[in-house]
Amino acid sequence: MKNITAEDTKNLFSQYVLPTYAPKLVFAKGEGAYLYDTTGKKYLDFAAGISVCNLGHCHPNVTKAICEQAATLVHVSNIYMNTVAPRLAEKLISFGFDGKVFFANSGAEANEGLIKLARKWGNATGRNEIIAMEDSFHGRTLATLAATGRSKYRKGFEPDVEGFKHVKFNDINALKAAITPNTCAVLMEPLQGEGGIIPGDKEYLKQVRELCNEKNLMLLFDEVQCGMGRMGTLFAHQSFGVVPDAFSMAKALGNGFPIGAFAVRTPFTDVLAPGTHASTFGGTALASAAALATLETIESEHVLDNVNKMSEFLFSELKRITKPYSFVKDVRGKGLMIGIVLDSSAAPLQELLFKYDLITLTAGETVLRLLPPLIITREQCQCALNAIEQALAEFAAQK
Ligand SMILES: *Cc1c(COP(=O)(O)O)cnc(C)c1O
Repeated sequence: MKNITAEDTKNLFSQYVLPTYAPKLVFAKGEGAYLYDTTGKKYLDFAAGISVCNLGHCHPNVTKAICEQAATLVHVSNIYMNTVAPRLAEKLISFGFDGKVFFANSGAEANEGLIKLARKWGNATGRNEIIAMEDSFHGRTLATLAATGRSKYRKGFEPDVEGFKHVKFNDINALKAAITPNTCAVLMEPLQGEGGIIPGDKEYLKQVRELCNEKNLMLLFDEVQCGMGRMGTLFAHQSFGVVPDAFSMAKALGNGFPIGAFAVRTPFTDVLAPGTHASTFGGTALASAAALATLETIESEHVLDNVNKMSEFLFSELKRITKPYSFVKDVRGKGLMIGIVLDSSAAPLQELLFKYDLITLTAGETVLRLLPPLIITREQCQCALNAIEQALAEFAAQK
């Protein structure tokens, strides 16, 4: 691997890979909170994939579990059982959810499962419409695109999958007004990620739960980005004090190894009966081993405590260093999912931060998105804050 250059990689990419993405940087190695390019240059990673490598890159516990399982049993199909997937399901449930789990391979696939669950349950009483939120993001498959509340993702892929409508997020009256006798479920991210790091209001989420109880609707949470410890609790809904009837997980579940899942609350665990839903790779032994090691490490390394400590530190410091700049409209989010809201495009600020060797993301158009790995230290946070402080000054001078 020594002689692989960024130049060669970029040439191969443009010649052979479909141009659906436009990446600029090439990385060759990751370790903890750091990424390295092909020349060995080091970057502090405040993106963690997109909230995927939450334990940092190549965490030794996860690497070991993947290597050992790869040498033991990779896959047997779901016509048989492997010894790992049921242990992973038990582990997930042990974090506090009264229900059962289905394994898939990605976030979109997990959300497809939620949609099928709600339709299967709703159709039994003649209802099949799902209400989702404006500015939401649920994935790139046709049904999850139809559920997604930003039409730009759907453009050109018409006709849309039927059976979805969208209402304003954090507006209980808008939701009330949209419910019809055909409504069977409400789907939302408790904290919207791609839409711009927009947290659900705690009181609103409680009212949504009550409304769903009252109208006999299934409440579905998409926790693909905000789950897996990022809010300071393993499941995002736990930090909002609201229990959904089913919720999806993916991104960080395998710390970078592809795996998705959805959990279904009792008494809805028999809705998807034998033969109604399946996935060839879902819960394969190798993916399950990676996810099990990820969850065990979250516990053994007290990762959730660290999220809460670093969250407090980052929010208070970010508020302080952004205060002098009127172009910063807000610092919002929860846990280690943080958005710095600007009055203009956030892309130039993200670009400036590359120069200070800090990897960040944007969300919506105007939000700089910070998703550090959950094992981030105070010193690493300080490093990022210094970079942000310098970049903000430079950004202000450019404006
Ligand atoms: C990333 C994301 C998805 C899609 O996950 P994939 O693994 O890319 O299919 C769905 N919902 C949310 C909230 C996401 O952030």
